[in-house]
Parts: sequence; C-alpha cells; structure tokens
Amino acid sequence: MYWEKDLEIMPREELVKLQRERLHKTILQAAKTPFYRKQFAKLHITPESIQTLEDLQNLPFTTKEDLRQGFPFKFLAVPLEEVVRLHSSSGTTGVPTVIYHSAEDLDRWTNQVARCLYMVGVRKTDVFQNMMSYGLFTGGLGMHYGAERLGALTIPIGAGNSKRQIWFLQFFKTTAAHILPSYALLLANLIKSEGLDPKKDLNLRIMLIGAEPHSEETRQRIEELYGAKAYNSYGLSEMNGPGVAFECPYQNGMHLWEDYYLLEIVNPQTGEPCASGEVGEIVLTTIYRDATPILRYRTRDLASFIDEPCPCGRTHRRISRIQGRSDDMFIVRGVNIFPIQVEKVLMGIPEVGTNYRIVLEREDYRDVMRVEVEIKSELFLGDLQKLERLRERIQSELRSEILVTPEVSLVEPGTLPTQEGKAQRVLDQRKF
Ligand code: ADP
Ligand code: ZN
Repeated sequence: MYWEKDLEIMPREELVKLQRERLHKTILQAAKTPFYRKQFAKLHITPESIQTLEDLQNLPFTTKEDLRQGFPFKFLAVPLEEVVRLHSSSGTTGVPTVIYHSAEDLDRWTNQVARCLYMVGVRKTDVFQNMMSYGLFTGGLGMHYGAERLGALTIPIGAGNSKRQIWFLQFFKTTAAHILPSYALLLANLIKSEGLDPKKDLNLRIMLIGAEPHSEETRQRIEELYGAKAYNSYGLSEMNGPGVAFECPYQNGMHLWEDYYLLEIVNPQTGEPCASGEVGEIVLTTIYRDATPILRYRTRDLASFIDEPCPCGRTHRRISRIQGRSDDMFIVRGVNIFPIQVEKVLMGIPEVGTNYRIVLEREDYRDVMRVEVEIKSELFLGDLQKLERLRERIQSELRSEILVTPEVSLVEPGTLPTQEGKAQRVLDQRKF
C-alpha cells in the first residue's frame, strides 16, 4: 500500500524535524543563487537565521514575475555542468520561466511520482498510457519516469491523435492512464463513435486526471464513463511538475508531500495565513531540490486545508481540489465567478454532454455571459418544449451557483471547439 512507508506515515513531529533539516540545506542552496543572495543581503538575513517555517515567513513571496525577471540563471544554485535537464513554461506571454534539475533532483522527482502512482494502486503489472504532451511540459516526462520506476509497461504516446490512442488502449489492454480531464470526456465520445463502449470494451481501471481545474462532478462522470477510478493529480512546473499533491484511495482531498515542500495557504489579498477550511492561495517552498530552490512561491492556485486525519494513515497534510487560479476568475456585473463553478453545475446534469464554453460579451455597456452547452444528440430529436425546459433548468441551476443569470444555448455534440492541450473554457470578448 505504501511506496515509502516510513516517510508516508511519519509522525508529524518527525516530519517537521525532517523539514527543518531540508529547509536548512535549501536556504544554503538559495544563498548561492543571484536572486536570493541579493534578497538576503537587502533584508540583512543570514542563512542561519532561517530554521523554521515561521522564520521563512519573514521572507517575501517569490512570484512568477520574479522567475521571469530571473531568466535565465538568477535562480540557479549549482554549476551549469551539474544540470541535466530543464523544463520551461509555455512562455506564450513573453519571457519563459525555466527550472533546472540536477541528476539527483530528477531522481527524487521520479520517486515522488512513483509514490503517488503506487498509492493509487498502479503496479508493475499495469500497462500505463501517458496521454500528456511530452517535451517542455512536465506532465509527459514527469509522469513517465515515475511509471517506469514502478516497473509498469509505460507507453509514451503523448497527447492528441485520438484514433491512435484508442487503438493502443484496445491492443495493449491499457489498465492505467494519465489524461487531462477535459480530454477524458472528449475521448469517451470518440470511443463511442467508433462503436465501442469505454467501460466494457476497454480495460482501464485507474486514471490520473490533472493539470487543469475540474470539479468532483467531472471526476464522477469520467469514472462512470470508463468504469475506472479517477484520481486527482496536482502539480506545476515551478515545483517540478506532477507529483506535488495527489489523492489517495479515499479520494478525500490531495496529500501534499511535505518531505518535498513546505506548504502555506494564504489570503491572496493580504498574504496572511488562512485558517483550516478557508480558501486561499497555495504557497510552496521546495525543500528537496538542489538546482533551483524556490522559496515561498505564489502558485496562484486556490485551495483550502483539510485537517482531519486521513484513514489511509498518511500524515502529509491534505488540500482540497483546486478551486481555480486567482487569475482565471472573471467578473460579470460585479460578481466574481470561477469557471469551475459553471463546470460543477453542468457536469451534474445528466442530459449535458461533454463540452461547453463560456462567452463573455459587452452589449450597451452591460456584461453578457453566455453559456454554450453541448447536450446529448438524441435530445434534439425530441419535443421542442422539453428542450426549452432543459435550457431553463440549466439556466436556473447556474443562477443559484453563480448568482448571475447567464444566457444559455444548447448545441449539438461536436459543435464547440476543442483544444489539444488544457481546455480553454472562457472566451472573453469584452472590450473595456
Ligand atoms: P502552465 O502554468 O503553463 O499551465 P504548468 O504545467 O506548470 O504550466 O501548469 C500548472 C498549473 O496547472 C497549476 O498551477 C494549476 O493551475 C493547474 N493544475 C495542475 N494540476 C491541477 C489539478 N489537479 N487541478 C487543478 N488545476 C491543476
Ligand atoms: Zn489518505
């Protein structure tokens, strides 16, 4: 049941001790980087003065913008010849951010991912199809090496090309898959359109879904469609990639591996720590990485602590599913809305298909929010009044969740655009 029992069920006091040791090493590493060396000097901080999480909280947060400003080497703590790989964020909006890994860093990350996979039951007897894109994006290689370390037969198929995905799923009787939740929904349709039943004609038993926000309703749908268990997997390239936090078999929030990171959740406005259950921004400090130490990184991801002990026995703290990114919230007529609220409502309605889109427009200086929803094709053959009643029902359920009345239009399956990578659900066409 455990990949590294001693570490996974380590009593809290011991875990805190281990964190201190690792934090100490991390601070010494950080002091070697141009960015933190300058910051420590400016604040008159010596590495010895930072021993605990409380000490660390005297330091400012590190932001994505800091990482950009630090391009290319200001966060590098080892000589370049010690670096064996780099990963970089998309960089579509300017300078990319780069994370460097030493051979040991990669080994630790691989182990971290193997721990997650083992926790949810992936074994060497499994056939593991990794449907995430390989390359600079960490979801591909990160998960790949973890699966190999477990000894699973690992298929590095990458993202997209659904026909080939389906062929591999069938031919190799794939039992475990790593897949974007939006793509899992879409792929199920394509499997059906080939006359196959994703539940009966495939052998999937474990799915790892992550890399984008998704609701509990979406997870349940994926589980029903494939007849498999779907586990939430959270990670970000600044903190390695996949493996940062993962659900255990109890599916009651994600364990965040505290022997790899120091975890804070803070109020995004004030930066003050959040109480248990209160939603705030996840802030992480790497404590088990040499080449690119990052202290108090503001992830922009929103979640809350779950403090009850987990029946699985693991002592690493749990966080809720990611509620969204502080920067993907949008405001309609003064009301703050997260895309995941819309998704939660839609995926809870059985008539709703697998794709939807939120379009924001401005008409006569007023925000208009339109939700375009694909519904199951057979419904278009039936009675028009029934369709109208469905539309009204969707509208009213959305209104009670988001407190704004959106326009709702029902469209046939396959009408809305799809993306190969992470789903983009919001099209904001407003000009202010
Ligand atoms: P990018 O920043 O370009 O999207 P990353 O691969 O680093 O590239 O993406 C990490 C981000 O993806 C996280 O910060 C988070 O917003 C999102 N993410 C990753 N896993 C999950 C998950 N399980 N649930 C919700 N969001 C997730
Ligand atoms: Zn657990």
